[in-house]
Amino acid sequence: MPEVKVDHEKCDGDGICVDVCPVAVFELKEEGGNTKSYAVNQDECLVCMACVVQCPQNAIEVNE
Ligand code: SF4
Repeated sequence: MPEVKVDHEKCDGDGICVDVCPVAVFELKEEGGNTKSYAVNQDECLVCMACVVQCPQNAIEVNE
């Protein structure tokens, strides 16, 4: 089962991963005034790597 990790030290909550993921793995959530991406549907991940490639912060790691 794929593992999708978002490094919240790097994530700036721009939501690009939400837009590029074909299976809606990510959701933006606000916590303590900061918006971050959370991989809420990791089980759906197709390991297409679109999020990894597109994230300008290099904040996403996907492992098969
Ligand atoms: S690798 Fe593809 S399917 Fe998996 S979370 Fe990233 S964009 Fe979504």
